[in-house]
Order: sequence, then C-alpha cells, then structure tokens
Amino acid sequence: MKAAPEAQKRLLDLAELDSVIDRLAHRRRTLPELAVIDERSKLHARLATQVIEAETESGDLAREQSKAESDVEAVRTRADRDQKRLDSGAVTSPRDLASLQSEIVSLHKRQGDLEEVVLEIMERREAADTKVTDLVTKRDEVRAELSAAEDRRDAAFGEIEKESAEVQGRRTGVAGEIPADLLKLYEKLREQYGVGAAMLHGGRCQGCKVALSIAEMNRIKAAPHDEVLRCEECRRILVRTAESGL
Ligand SMILES: [Zn+2]
Repeated sequence: MKAAPEAQKRLLDLAELDSVIDRLAHRRRTLPELAVIDERSKLHARLATQVIEAETESGDLAREQSKAESDVEAVRTRADRDQKRLDSGAVTSPRDLASLQSEIVSLHKRQGDLEEVVLEIMERREAADTKVTDLVTKRDEVRAELSAAEDRRDAAFGEIEKESAEVQGRRTGVAGEIPADLLKLYEKLREQYGVGAAMLHGGRCQGCKVALSIAEMNRIKAAPHDEVLRCEECRRILVRTAESGL
C-alpha cells in the first residue's frame, strides 16, 4: 500500500486520540463507584427484605397482643359480673355462694395468667419494633450511600462523555485527512491489536518496543517514502518520522 508520508504521520495523531478514547472507556468501565453501587445495591435489597420480615413479625405480634388483651377483657368482665352477683346478695344458698366465690378466685387467677401472656407478647413486640427501627435506619443509610455513589458515577460519566465527545470530534477531523484505504487498514489493525499504528523511533517500534534489526532498518531505508510499512514483530503500521533513526 502507498500513502503520502504526511497522511501516514496523521495515523500517529489518530492512534494518540484512539488511546485517549480507550483510556476514557477503561475509566468508565472501572469506575470505583460501580463496585460500590453493586455492593450497596445488594446490601440494600437484603435489608429491604429483612425490614419486611421484621415488620411482618411485629404485625403478627400486634394481632397476637390484641387477641390476648381481649381474652383478658373477657375474663375480667366475667369476674366483674360474678362479683356484682355476689355483692347484690341475690345468691343466698351457701353452696351457690361457695361456687360463685370459687369461680371468682379461679377467674382472677386466669386473668393473672393471661395478663402475663400479654406482657410477654408486649416484650417480644417491643424487641420486634426495635429490630424494625434498626433495620429501617440501616436500610436508609445504605440507600443514601447508594444514591451518593450513583450521583458520583453519573457525574463521572458526564465528564467522561463530554471528554469522549470532544476527542471523537477531533478524531473525525483527523480521520478525514487520511486516505480511505489506509484508514481501513488502520481500523482493521486497531481492532486486531488495540493500536493500529506506531512510530519508528530511534530504530525501535513504539508499538511493541522491539528494536529493529540492521537488515530491517536497511530495508526501511531503501523503501520509498510513500510505502506503507508494517512492523515485522507486532504487524502494526510503522510510521517513519524525523526521529526514526534512519
Ligand atoms: Zn512493533
């Protein structure tokens, strides 16, 4: 392939811009915020599930408490009713009186037992509510950290995109100055090797850093200026400049 030396030199500008584009893409992919967001998202999902579980437990205990309280209320009502009957003097038979008194005693004992149950449920409910509060606090903290990391990511993405757009614009300009066949070869090599063109600098390929043999240097010296050369080592387009050591 033939191409004017000036066009070949423009490939080096293109390669420089492409390496900036690659660095920006790499920065975008490896932004530390991405790992933070991933980790915080997972933790947030776990905590959200735990909050629901704790809230369910607390709700169950609230219902259990209402049920136990209404049991206490029913026993108390019955004991009160018995007490009123006893106080009214309507019951006169000693056997009925004894039976009524014994029922009142047993209802009071039953009420005491049920009140113990209520207290025990209240303690469990209090613990469950504390757990809900703690988990909600933790979940909200993680949510805030996640949002902050997302904001930092978006800001970094914004900067990267702005810089990328600027570099892409310059790249389009440089690419427009390179003949189509040379550009096509460059793009193909860039796809294959990551970098499509390298400078021959002081007898060394700047792409693979390998020093060219004397025979190879002689071959290049003898080659016409518009000949498009390739590095024998890395296959990239080898561009000659004043610093090539020829
Ligand atoms: Zn090379």
